[in-house]
Amino acid sequence: MLFRSPTHDMAKRRLNKQQQWRIKKIQQERAARAAKKEESISEKLDAGNLGPEQQGLVIAHYGQQLDVEALEGEDTGTVLRCFVRANIDSLVTGDKVIWRPGSDNTGVIVARCDRHTLLQRPDNFGALKPVAANIDYIILVIAPEPEPHDNLIDRYLVAAESTDIPVIILLNKTDLVTDQNREAIDQLLARYEKLGYRIERTSAKTLEGEQAVKVEDLVKGQTSVFVGQSGVGKSSIIQTLLPEASIRVGAVSESTGKGVHTTTTAKLFHLNCGGDLIDSPGIREFGLWHMTPQEIEYGFREIRDLIGHCKFRNCSHMGDPGCAIVQAAEDGRISTERLKRSEEHTSELQSLEVSR
Ligand code: GDP
Ligand code: ZN
Repeated sequence: MLFRSPTHDMAKRRLNKQQQWRIKKIQQERAARAAKKEESISEKLDAGNLGPEQQGLVIAHYGQQLDVEALEGEDTGTVLRCFVRANIDSLVTGDKVIWRPGSDNTGVIVARCDRHTLLQRPDNFGALKPVAANIDYIILVIAPEPEPHDNLIDRYLVAAESTDIPVIILLNKTDLVTDQNREAIDQLLARYEKLGYRIERTSAKTLEGEQAVKVEDLVKGQTSVFVGQSGVGKSSIIQTLLPEASIRVGAVSESTGKGVHTTTTAKLFHLNCGGDLIDSPGIREFGLWHMTPQEIEYGFREIRDLIGHCKFRNCSHMGDPGCAIVQAAEDGRISTERLKRSEEHTSELQSLEVSR
């Protein structure tokens, strides 16, 4: 998640002395390892056997090494195993980099280009770790089955809001919309459309139906991630987008279609239609990552606009006098259900913090 400094400070303050000590120790060890690595890279550099600087794209990340796809020159499209100069902060899948070719399909990354978005997740100590960079769209997949619930949808949307990456809500399995569930689904989608979210419909199975969009049109020419509850059809959709070859290398298990990954690292795939997809089991669980109460508040976009308008700076928005948020709910400007859920998410979190 793209991080704002106030919340970041909060995360830091939560660490106790022992955790801080552990982190410091880990950082020292890491620095020592990096220094050693830097030495061997400089040896190579000194030997003058690295080629000219050029642009590349990180498509996978394995500990100290990364797979980088060449973006220019005669090697365009080939993938090289690259090492990183120690002075570059952590690189992730989706990062654009400057690298120099070495021998035998290896290279050295010498710089990271600016990112326009960054997905980060908190580790066990509350420190943030980048997961993937330069994502243009988060596609939140829902389906008539498993039955969609506003509170879970909100959870994904809130997480997405904190990254500032736009979200598309994609209803999959339109072939399972019946006279029994149609009204409830339409109403649910209308509630999110009213909040300004883009809504699309498809069916990975039939790939037709009046309202079905071709998912290719959604992902064309950009970098997307698919998130959403298990069983909504993410793997099925991804399978329709991926070229045969990447399915074979184990992106998604062919036999079960259950999305069994051979690795947990985020990987970037080029799609048939000319877009990119970044996928990993962790990214699929994205909405369930830990969030601070501030992030949750910020993530309810209609509530965010009211933050700071309450009479008291430390307003709990739960009945304090002069509360702008409660007032907005009373006036019908924001939905009382969404307000209730934002409170539930926040108090659920607070009880978790206390029990830690
Ligand atoms: P994931 O857990 O989100 O990756 O979901 P999967 O792709 O594994 O799909 C879960 C189940 O839904 C599988 O049995 C799929 O065959 C089924 N499924 C996926 N898309 C559709 C669809 O458009 N229509 C119907 N009827 N079933 C679908
Ligand atoms: Zn308030």
